[in-house]
Amino acid sequence: MENKLRVLVTGGAGYIGSHAVKTLHEKGYYVAVLDNLCRGHRKAVPEDVPFFQTDLQETDRIEEILRENKIDVVMHFAAFMAVGESVQCPIEYYRNNTGGALSLLYAMKKAGVCRFIFSSTAATYGEPETTPIYEDQRQLPVNPYGWSKWMVERILKDYGKANPEFGFTALRYFNVGGSAEDGSIGEDHRPETHLLPKIIYAALGKDEKLTVFGTDYPTPDGTCIRDYVHVEDLIAAHILAMEAIKPGDQKFYNLGIGHGYSVKEMLDAAEKVLERKIPVVYGERRPGDPARLYANSDKAQKELGWKPLHTDVADMIESAWKWYKNHPNGYPD
Ligand code: UDP
Repeated sequence: MENKLRVLVTGGAGYIGSHAVKTLHEKGYYVAVLDNLCRGHRKAVPEDVPFFQTDLQETDRIEEILRENKIDVVMHFAAFMAVGESVQCPIEYYRNNTGGALSLLYAMKKAGVCRFIFSSTAATYGEPETTPIYEDQRQLPVNPYGWSKWMVERILKDYGKANPEFGFTALRYFNVGGSAEDGSIGEDHRPETHLLPKIIYAALGKDEKLTVFGTDYPTPDGTCIRDYVHVEDLIAAHILAMEAIKPGDQKFYNLGIGHGYSVKEMLDAAEKVLERKIPVVYGERRPGDPARLYANSDKAQKELGWKPLHTDVADMIESAWKWYKNHPNGYPD
């Protein structure tokens, strides 16, 4: 264990962060969690993982945590992530996502921590001119959420230029879903807005029906197409990126499986896995939804050696279902 990197995971009590913590912990890395628990769940983090209930704005405290835990690398997941909410509350989004990252980077600078893995997003591309989306494609976000993450990418580039010791990798996620193989942790957003959990809520009767947002998109079945990547594959990419990072690195990778599924295809797949009809109502388009978003992720595959193992969306649905069946009310409060 002596030579293994020591990792601070911000947002480690959240959906994606908790999966990172679980994998890092199982692989024998020293991992500590920083989370203010405004959205995360304490129960999502194992008891024996050092946990700091700290806000990203607390720069001095973060510097102390970095030093005391001899952190080598930060995986930064802590952020707000609902597109619609970002339109209603842009100040909160810029404060938490952009300002929070800035405070964290300043604490890292003061503590001399030079490796950074950043949770970026396909939302930094906005409405793509062409699909699949490549990393060097135009980035023009269409909502404050996308801009709040885009700005962090911008800051990272400038900081990287000014400090050759600093190396970062920004991972641009497409649609993340699924749960840990053993069903012990999963997705619990309140309120939930994402498609797969909403499909399962409708299947469980937690929601009366799933509303399909728009059936008149220029796609084969009229519903939106997205690239769904399994959370365990996503975390595998983070660990590869973390191990590969070198001083001066400024890397950007798309994380998607390179295949799009429409909302209707997701519903069909879910009905097969869940062996039940999902009650559905067809509604209006949701503002800000591009018709199709899917990744070209050859770069991550070539440069990081990443290979997503769950390329059939049924695997993702199956694993999410395992979590929700056993935790119909999510984590205990
Ligand atoms: N969607 C839907 N009904 C829902 C939630 C989502 O039809 O209750 C659609 C949404 O319009 C989009 C796709 O499912 O086309 C994925 O949406 P999600 O919110 O999961 O992720 P996003 O693509 O916004 O990051």
